Amino acid sequence: MKKRVAIIGGGVAGMQTALRLKRTGGIEPVIIEREEELGGKVRNWHVLFPTFTPAGEVLGALRSEVAAAGIEVLTGEEAEEFTDRSVKLRSERTIECDAVALCSGFTLFDATLKEEYGYGIYDNVYTSADLERMFSEGRVAMADGSAPRRIAFLHCVGSRDEKVCQRHCSKVCCITGVKQAIEMKRLFPTADVFNFYMDIRMFGPGYEELYREAQQRYNIHFVRGRISEASPMMDGRVQIKSEDTLTGRPLRMSVDMLVLLIGMRANDENGRFADKAGLTLAQSGFMQSRDLFLGNTESPRPGIFYAGAVTAPKSIGETLNEGFTAADRIAEYLGVK
Ligand SMILES: Cc1cc2nc3c(=O)[nH]c(=O)nc-3n(C[C@H](O)[C@H](O)[C@H](O)COP(=O)(O)OP(=O)(O)OC[C@H]3O[C@@H](n4cnc5c(N)ncnc54)[C@H](O)[C@@H]3O)c2cc1C
Ligand code: SF4
Repeated sequence: MKKRVAIIGGGVAGMQTALRLKRTGGIEPVIIEREEELGGKVRNWHVLFPTFTPAGEVLGALRSEVAAAGIEVLTGEEAEEFTDRSVKLRSERTIECDAVALCSGFTLFDATLKEEYGYGIYDNVYTSADLERMFSEGRVAMADGSAPRRIAFLHCVGSRDEKVCQRHCSKVCCITGVKQAIEMKRLFPTADVFNFYMDIRMFGPGYEELYREAQQRYNIHFVRGRISEASPMMDGRVQIKSEDTLTGRPLRMSVDMLVLLIGMRANDENGRFADKAGLTLAQSGFMQSRDLFLGNTESPRPGIFYAGAVTAPKSIGETLNEGFTAADRIAEYLGVK
């Protein structure tokens, strides 16, 4: 008789885990997704770093494979709590299973919590997620519809920040800032584009090269310093105050668009999941793996596994690899080869 594995979350992590499990021939995965369609956050991205591949291409391929494999998918269903043998849904339904893979991802940092930047109050202050939507809709402009001539990106918004209790680095926002700055230069070649950063973290293959290209080919300016404050101007633009920490000079500048590169934070329900299933959280609030080296897709509880951004900020490539690893560990646990 086939084993059944419940997968909580139908983002790229959940789909990849399900596909690998299904291919064993001895496991029937069921994906539980609270939205009406599969894909997770990647549904909201336009083109992906570092290759500018359309996000829809990657999602389209995964969704088609899930459909072709005949994997059971429950959309519009939210997991409320679980053990290694069952998942209780908000709809009161319970899914019995032989193991669980938690693939519930992350939450975007709420930029209104950084009041000093005026997000949601001033015109022309956006988040990186807003900009992805604007790129997808082909509608990138200032609030009054005109083309921006000076654009500033601010790194580390809601990451590495004690004041909002988010001490971790969100890992993907430096390279997202580089990618989005290049997209802006492609759309508005005469615009001046500035990236304000604390440190530049280019951890992945091709990232450092893209960062160099941003400077050398697109003439994007990287300024080491945080923006301390943004304020609205009479003409709708935004004045920013910063300091160039490399030269020690204070800096004041007016920009047409300010883009906040928001971080990836842990889901609020991680605490509830951990309490109910006897799991542990890392200091960052993400789920803590059994062992960072030898068991990073396993929880401390037998029968409960992790894949993707539920344990820490990750790129799509890293997430897809974890889907494979988690599935292999689950098959081993269930004795299915
Ligand atoms: C602004 C931004 C841009 C990015 N751009 C790129 C890029 O260009 N290239 C790249 O490699 N990476 C990029 N990333 C990172 C990428 O988004 C992540 O690697 C990816 O989303 C992780 O996938 P996941 O499946 O682990 O999590 P998610 O995408 O968060 O998916 C989790 C899924 O679980 C579901 N879920 C959550 N809780 C429950 C529950 N209780 N019950 C049922 N379902 C639930 C959610 O609805 C969601 O569908 C970007 C990140 C950000 C913030
Ligand atoms: S990846 Fe860059 S922008 Fe994001 S938190 Fe880390 S240092 Fe800051």
